[in-house]
Amino acid sequence: MPEPIPVEKNDQIDVTFSDLTQDGSGVTKVDGYTLFVPGALPGEKGTIQVLKTKKGYGYGRLIQLTQQSEERANPPCPIYDQCGGCAIQHLSAQGQLDHKQEVVKDALERIGGFSNVEINTTLGMDEPWNYRNKIQVPVAWQDGRFAFGFYKKHSHEIVNMDHCIITDPVIDDIVQTVRRIAEEKGIAPYDESKNRGILRHVMARVGKKTGEVMVVLITRTEDLPFRKNFIKELTEKHPEIKSIVQNINPKRTNAILGEKTKTLWGRDVIYDQIGDVAFAISARSFFQVNPVQTEVLYGKALDYAGLTGEETVIDAYCGIGTISLFLAKRAKKVYGVEIVPEAIEDARKNAELNHITNAYFEAGKAEDVIPNWRNQGIEPDVIVVDPPRKGCEASLIKTMITMRPKRIVYVSCNPATLARDLKLLVPSGYEIKKVQPVDMFPQTMHIETVVGLQRMDM
Ligand code: SAH
Repeated sequence: MPEPIPVEKNDQIDVTFSDLTQDGSGVTKVDGYTLFVPGALPGEKGTIQVLKTKKGYGYGRLIQLTQQSEERANPPCPIYDQCGGCAIQHLSAQGQLDHKQEVVKDALERIGGFSNVEINTTLGMDEPWNYRNKIQVPVAWQDGRFAFGFYKKHSHEIVNMDHCIITDPVIDDIVQTVRRIAEEKGIAPYDESKNRGILRHVMARVGKKTGEVMVVLITRTEDLPFRKNFIKELTEKHPEIKSIVQNINPKRTNAILGEKTKTLWGRDVIYDQIGDVAFAISARSFFQVNPVQTEVLYGKALDYAGLTGEETVIDAYCGIGTISLFLAKRAKKVYGVEIVPEAIEDARKNAELNHITNAYFEAGKAEDVIPNWRNQGIEPDVIVVDPPRKGCEASLIKTMITMRPKRIVYVSCNPATLARDLKLLVPSGYEIKKVQPVDMFPQTMHIETVVGLQRMDM
């Protein structure tokens, strides 16, 4: 017999909130039944109305708060209530850092079974706004009008946006110039339902250290009407622009970028730097979105790797080689592996750009390539992993254990899979030395953590 649901639609009940979800909703339990309530914070009490009930959980609406959290903040963004971009602007900067530390602690305890591991306080930004170096804004035909902004939570409806306060102001301004030109010239926005229209997305990216900007106009069609007007107005108004490219995506798909990219004006790439490593970034390249905090994160990874210049290092899930190249300058040899072949091409180019000759990159699955390296006799002193949200394959963890590196540095974007993987690693003879959450995405619930592990018999 399934448990009966203790509440019904439209019930009004008094509750206490205990937690926050990934999209920033408050969590409360009524007789063990979970309800999600947007806008509420942990520690708060209030009256809610039940909106919807499902088997294991339901949703509610906040009617009034009877006890407010001391960490409640006034969200500065005027469209925060509707836009799905940010989740926790109503939580103070310190409240966000404390909460992220708590989430990591909770995952390590509940999932990993680690009850006496110290979790450092989250490293945050002094100014947790204007940090994003990239903005990509959907354009659509909506209610008979040109719509430009991000989607509502759990929806494909656009909330019109004039400014995004977590984005670098220069590119925030540039995408609005594109919007103005497109509206003035009557360029048809993309119509998803019919797969018609021209302009689908406007993307801009800035090198935070170099100030160089790339603008990407993503169109359904090969043709971009008023191309010359775009180029003239954009380059005259925004001298930071070093590259304007058009990306063509004719398909009916959620993917933003298509296969084909044409440079309309200027260079094919812009440059940026993380620490002392330079990167060339093209329209389709992955690049960390908050390079300031990335430097903080990699600084910790470098510290935990304990390099003297003599070590062999493996960087699993290396992307475009950001961590590999950062470490290569301080190690004897670095081996990077990544599943996306274009990213490996970028990694090789970036090694060349920096005159780094001791980094070797291979495309493939980490769980396939690393056992081959082991069979070839490669003996890493340090293994760094930076997997996607689903964490490492169990087989990779087994391979790592057989390779017995002195140190393992685990960079994680998901505390739950981090805890699961540490539970496999630690009993094989490793000690958790440091757990450091880093806030890479202020105003959102994303949590990045770097963990330093040391072999016990060292
Ligand atoms: N370390 C990089 C990127 C980490 S993101 C940086 O800091 O920039 C995780 C990366 O893992 C992505 O680039 C993704 O393409 C890659 N990936 C996903 N599954 C993989 C697998 N099984 N083997 C190797 N790489 C994988």
